[in-house]
Amino acid sequence: REVAEISIKDIDQIGKSSFPLCMRHLFEKLREDHHLKHGGRMQLGLFLKGVGLKLEDALAFWKAEFSQRVGSERFDKEYAYSIRHNYGREGKRTDYTPYSCQKIITSAPGVGDHHGCPYRHFSEENLRAALGKMGISNRAVEDVMDKVRNRHYQLACTLTFEAVHGTSCDAGINHPNQYFSDSQKVLQS
Ligand code: SF4
Repeated sequence: REVAEISIKDIDQIGKSSFPLCMRHLFEKLREDHHLKHGGRMQLGLFLKGVGLKLEDALAFWKAEFSQRVGSERFDKEYAYSIRHNYGREGKRTDYTPYSCQKIITSAPGVGDHHGCPYRHFSEENLRAALGKMGISNRAVEDVMDKVRNRHYQLACTLTFEAVHGTSCDAGINHPNQYFSDSQKVLQS
């Protein structure tokens, strides 16, 4: 059974179990800083839309964080529009699709940005620490680092998926939302 919708109250728990590392990182930073720059808001926001967070919930979710930093008035004025925009409710009314791994890996996060692919954009030290927090074995971490050194970032993510879920992922990871739905399939089977 695929998850058709997720609610805000489940999001932390479901994030820990089923978000790929790129989204876990953005999610943690948002909770920590109550803020994300534009690139991070787009990458995480469209991903969350893809996993089934409804517009009303998305607005409440982002507002709860951002208003701690910039106040709720400024959130309504400066940030709510772009969230509605992502959902195709503003501007050209395009229903924007979540970013693929390819797009994320080739993005160029600058100083203070948290978007991008950790396998591509983290330092070795930070990546090892992040993988450690996901609770995967030292042996698996070494296998992942080996793929990273050879610039096979999606294979590194696939190995992480396999280590976290204790099952093989033959198709490989090519989209964060695919990581999520494959994870949910494993956890619900
Ligand atoms: Fe995210 Fe894809 Fe990188 Fe995995 S390989 S962390 S899903 S961008």
